[in-house]
This record gives sequence, structure tokens and C-alpha cells, in this order.
Amino acid sequence: MTIYLKDCTYLNWDSLEMTQSNVAVEEGPRKGISFPASVPRTEDLRPEDRVLNCAGKLVTRSFGCGHHHIYATLARGMPAPRKIPANFPEILQYVWWHLDQRLDLEMIEASALASAIYCAKSGVTFVIDHHASPSAIKGSLPVIARAFDRVGIGHLLCYEISDRDGEGPREEGLAETDAFLASGGQGHVGLHASFTVGDTSLVQAIRLARKHDSGLHLHVAEDRADQENSLAKYGKRVVVRLADSGALELQKSILAHCIHLSDQEKDLVRQSGVWVVQNVESNQNNNVGVTGYTSLTGNVMLGTDGMHCDMLRSAKAAFLAGQTTEGLDFGGIYRRFRNIHRYTRAFGAAGDADNNLVILDYDAPTEVTSNNFPAHFVFGLDARHVETVISQGKIIVEDRRITTVDESDVLAFGRVMGKKLWGKL
Ligand SMILES: [Zn+2]
Repeated sequence: MTIYLKDCTYLNWDSLEMTQSNVAVEEGPRKGISFPASVPRTEDLRPEDRVLNCAGKLVTRSFGCGHHHIYATLARGMPAPRKIPANFPEILQYVWWHLDQRLDLEMIEASALASAIYCAKSGVTFVIDHHASPSAIKGSLPVIARAFDRVGIGHLLCYEISDRDGEGPREEGLAETDAFLASGGQGHVGLHASFTVGDTSLVQAIRLARKHDSGLHLHVAEDRADQENSLAKYGKRVVVRLADSGALELQKSILAHCIHLSDQEKDLVRQSGVWVVQNVESNQNNNVGVTGYTSLTGNVMLGTDGMHCDMLRSAKAAFLAGQTTEGLDFGGIYRRFRNIHRYTRAFGAAGDADNNLVILDYDAPTEVTSNNFPAHFVFGLDARHVETVISQGKIIVEDRRITTVDESDVLAFGRVMGKKLWGKL
């Protein structure tokens, strides 16, 4: 199948070069695009080919999320926790761990499907997810993978292994990860965070990541409590502990947050070449602090931490926070927004190639050029401009409607599963 985007304004996501052209999009997880001088005549098209008239539309690479939690989807509007959390450890204890322990496979499916739809409609076609469901570990990753595949979202998944629920769930988490990666699933070895992961689990996780040529995906120094725990228990700071264990030798590793790092830890992260994900809205929501990343490493991606699925929104939030923390400019935030493509390329991941595109109906009141696009990106471009989305060469959103699944059915399923979950809280 080939999709022809006729007469579009094509914006190269990397160079920001803008050209008036036709784009031919090939289908497949590692396929690309070409720029034919003309679009075939109707009688020369194959039955499965499509031609979309894109005159006046901006076409560019679709977006990706570097750190997500589909398990948070059914939390929206849920009853208040029994105790109002006073700090970050209590937010985990009374909100997220209370919720994720009650998830079953059906709820996980509903969460992943709805989340995938929100991603697609926001122009996001690739998601790096970090999952937890201690009472339904076995089979959870294939459920999420199938849901993402049904909607048409590429993915790197992991299960968050930890010692917070004891040896049983820890072993199940390791087994689920091993089985998923062995079966060809793309992903990481997930860990919750240093303060919930003992040395034995850390060693086992690193061993598993080496076995599958992957990396770790964990929360790092999201709150000061993570550092305090590491210093008290191990006599060293979190990143030093990770470095000493060999975790930072895994180049595909993702460290989410990294807010409370010492200069020594920053040096270790920068020199290791591992990746960091900024989730500033979540940090503000949890009141754990915010930080600048420019001095930390260039390997920074943006995520949502499960709060929503709109990466344009994440980029705006990171830009605004960056004004006080690091003096971020338009080009700097745009590059960070796009770093996920550099990460997936380095990872060798399928599903985030050049044939992932958004067609934007961008109603700019001023001229858009290669030079000023980053300013349009920060101040103008919104998810509402996402008209059509092509993922791996297939149309998954057309004229703002999901084409791959029945959206109203999925959301109805979500409401039923949400009630079931809330009844158990
Ligand atoms: Zn997270």
C-alpha cells in the first residue's frame, strides 16, 4: 500500500527544511517515504493505494512519548484517596500503588486502548511505556502491545520490577519481562526506582537487560526521598549506585526525571551516554521540584509520566519551566521534543521510521519558515491542528477520527472498567 500526500508543504523534522512536494508513504514498521514529482493517475493506482489532497497542509514526522504510564488512564476523575498525601512517598502509597494493585488484565486493556487513542489523536505514534500492575503481572505486556497495535501505535514496553510487594511479584515481573522480550516484544527491563529495588533485583534486572541487548527504564531521583533512601541504605547516591552496579553501561537505558542529582551524578550520566526523560508537568503536580537538563546531557527526551498523551503540551510545559531552570530557547526545546527519534534509531526499534507522519491543518496568522518554525512550534502548534495521522505507513486518524478501532466502543469499555476499578479502591 502507498499513501500519496499530494501538494503538501513538507517539513523535514530534523533539518526543518520546507519543500512544496508530493510525498509517497510506504507501509511497514521500517519503511520510509519518497518525494515523487507527480502522483499516479487514478487508473494507475492499486486498489489499496490512497491519495490525500494536502494543499495548504503542513506534513511532518509524527511525535513520540519518552516516558508514559498507560496504567494511569482510568485514574481520571477517580475518588479521592483515603488520606490526602503529604509528600511524594505518600502520593505513591495512597494513590498510585493503591490503584495499580487493583488493576486486572481487562482494565489494563481498556487503559492501553484509550491511551493509544488519545496518543493517536494528538499526533503521537510511538510510546515508551512503563507499566505496573502487581496483581496482574503475567500477560500484562502482551495485552498492552496488542492494544497499541490495534490502534496503530509503535511501542517500547516494560514492566516495573520492584521489591515493594515482596519476592513473588518481583519474580513475576522478571519472568514477564523475560518472556515478553524473548517472544520478540520490543522493550526495556523496567524497574520502579532505586528506593524500591534492592541489590539482588538490580543485579537480576541488569543481567536480563544484557541477555536481551536492552536497557533499564526506571525513575531516578524524582524526589529527594530516593536519594535519602540510597544514602541511608547503600551509603551512596542513586546514580553512583547505578554506575557501580553496571547499569549505566547499558546504552539503551532510560532514566526518568533525574531532578535531584549532584554534579558527580550529572557527570556519570553524561559520560555514560544513557538517556534521560523530562516530565515537568508531573513534577509540578507532585511538587517534587523541577530542574534544568541542558547542563546534564544532550540525551534528553520528553515524556508525560502518564498524565496525558499530548506531546505538544509536554513540550510547551518544558519550554516554560526551562525559562527559569535552564534558559531554554525555541530550538533547544524542539530538539528535545524530537530526540525520541534519535533514541529509537540508536535502540534499533521498529515502528518509528520516516513513514510516521502528521498532516497538520495549521491556521498560522503569520508566515511559517524553516527559520521561525521552532517559535510556531512553541507558541502556535497544538494537538487541535492534527488532522490526519499516518503510523508505519497506515492511516490511523483521518479528519480527526480514529480509523483503526471504534472510539466510542473503546471509551464505553473504559468507563465500565473505570467503575470496576474505582469500586475496588
Ligand atoms: Zn513515571
